[in-house]
Amino acid sequence: MGQRPKKILLSGATLLGLVIVGLSTLLPKVETVTAREVQQRKATRSNGWLAASFPVENFQAYTSPFGYRRAATGGANWEFHGGLDIAAPQGSYIRNWWAGTVVKVSDITACGTHVVIKSGEWEHTYCHLEGHVETASGRRYLIDRAGGIQIWEGQTIPTGVRIGRVGMTGRTTGPHLHWGLKYANNYVDPALVLREMFTQQQIATRESKIIIQESKNTRDSGY
Ligand SMILES: [Zn+2]
Repeated sequence: MGQRPKKILLSGATLLGLVIVGLSTLLPKVETVTAREVQQRKATRSNGWLAASFPVENFQAYTSPFGYRRAATGGANWEFHGGLDIAAPQGSYIRNWWAGTVVKVSDITACGTHVVIKSGEWEHTYCHLEGHVETASGRRYLIDRAGGIQIWEGQTIPTGVRIGRVGMTGRTTGPHLHWGLKYANNYVDPALVLREMFTQQQIATRESKIIIQESKNTRDSGY
């Protein structure tokens, strides 16, 4: 369990150097994700998620899944958890999952200091970050001086770029990234997307190894 996400991180980082950052218009549609979840192996292969970046460095564990859960207040209360909680040591860097535009920075809700980025129909939210929000010349920006992070509303952010650090702002009991995903304004389980990314990037890594092996064999047989 602990090994898999690390592989995502490694292969994701490797691929970042190889794959040209995808245009937001090329982003996979959410129907592809759900369809593949239903008929895992049968679905036709698409390389749609190859360019995506795993959102956290120093992954430790998933601490709370997407969906309905018992409220922290206890009793018979249920609440909807609109994202995936990913634990990592405080100060760990967070990377932009997919190239897009910063549509919001804020630090006044339970989400704490957070960033919302829009990539085509997809909207990704990163909560509980270090730092706070300031305003200059009427424009709002997230500032995390110790982490060397400054993110402006309206700014375009490439895939894989560091956009913040794991903190404890807002409603949280420990350092983690709450990562929320929406497609066309509907919530999507981020775990499905991460699983898809992992599968495709593993396939890509395996295929590139085969190609390297083949070219090596060709060279060797020449001597
Ligand atoms: Zn959460």
